[in-house]
Amino acid sequence: MSGCGCDSVKGHLTPYADALENLVRAAVPVPETESVGVFDALGRVLAAPLVSRVDVPPADNSAMDGYAVNAADVASAGEIRLPISQRIPAGEIGAPLEPGTAARIFTGAPIPEGADVVIMQERVRREGDVIVFTGPYAPNTNVRFAAEDIACGSEILERGMRLRAQELGVAASIGSVQMEVFRRLRVGVFFTGDELVEPGQALAPGQIYDSNRYTIVGLLKTLGCEVIDLGIVGDTFEQTRSALQTAAAEADLVITSGGVSVGEEDHIRAAVESLGSLDMWRVKIKPGKPLAFGQVNGTPFLGLPGNPVAVFVTFCLFVSPYIKRMQGLAAAQASPMQVRADFDWTAGKRREFVRAKLVENEAGENAVQIYHHQGSGVLASTTWSDGLVNIPDGQAVAPGDWVEYLPYTRLLA
Ligand code: AMP
Ligand code: MG
Repeated sequence: MSGCGCDSVKGHLTPYADALENLVRAAVPVPETESVGVFDALGRVLAAPLVSRVDVPPADNSAMDGYAVNAADVASAGEIRLPISQRIPAGEIGAPLEPGTAARIFTGAPIPEGADVVIMQERVRREGDVIVFTGPYAPNTNVRFAAEDIACGSEILERGMRLRAQELGVAASIGSVQMEVFRRLRVGVFFTGDELVEPGQALAPGQIYDSNRYTIVGLLKTLGCEVIDLGIVGDTFEQTRSALQTAAAEADLVITSGGVSVGEEDHIRAAVESLGSLDMWRVKIKPGKPLAFGQVNGTPFLGLPGNPVAVFVTFCLFVSPYIKRMQGLAAAQASPMQVRADFDWTAGKRREFVRAKLVENEAGENAVQIYHHQGSGVLASTTWSDGLVNIPDGQAVAPGDWVEYLPYTRLLA
């Protein structure tokens, strides 16, 4: 994949924005789409615009429980008395309104022909079959118009958007039964390291639990991917190569953790190059400097660092937008918020993505605090935080300064 212009020259660090842009540009959306039931469309990416074939609401209807009248009968100031001529609950069509009368009406019931105002029932006194209230009322008061929500022929949902509960509701409101979505992305993953052990087993000296597996699989599921999880893979060239082959054959994208450095126990690079090609990007960020990108037998490959915090951060910053683009999402990159800092920061040599959360500062403004220990092995910082503050290299921060904040909800939506 030397065509992406990001081949790292020894000693050269790729700027964050370039790495992100090149990566997103290289991502190819899955071409296949499928039709699924509206409930099953939750979290999927819409593959064709949804156009309404109906008006919503289908007819003018009452916004209130009350009395439907004609504006000409209620235009005068002062007390107005009208007899009740009919009763229209929701779901029924009333008769045309007799002039000089009121129709008892309920919320959502169609406005009868000849009426164009609804008097709220709380504003009305009943005297037997006569209502008494104070005018004047302007035409259209308390009326919901036909098509005021959705007009027949209009595009209500755009191709390339992720479907949330409210999109399912809107689709149902126009009578949709099925929705056209991109097929699920299949992601093959494995986790390199002879020191790794599955939770549930006792740790021998020198061993640690494989946490990256849970972080990465969880993040992939959060993004709605199908996961092909090959588990822990030992630090040999043969095992790494064989896992890569299996994952590449079954998945649209292969993701690994660990083994991307240049130590003797790091086999990702050689194994990937034996089956395809690889660029090692040394991205000028902290945490997460090394990021490997390439292809294995034609399947795109992303190699994450081993360090658990770096895994989480690089997934949020790079893997997530890459996956979103492959899933067919139009907006792959998260938009940051500008908020006040509620912390001090000493300028560093690399752009730093600091685990942070939104709080209210002493002035009552939205502000971000940062976790007290930003070490790249401190996974607790990821659970304490709700997002990342993006601090450019060379920039110091004092409380009250504006900083860029990327909430996880945006990075992973
Ligand atoms: P590596 O890039 O393979 O040298 O790994 C860097 C650091 O991350 C080492 O301290 C590893 O033990 C640790 N590490 C690698 N993979 C995992 C994993 N799956 N879970 C937890 N820690 C890991
Ligand atoms: Mg390793």
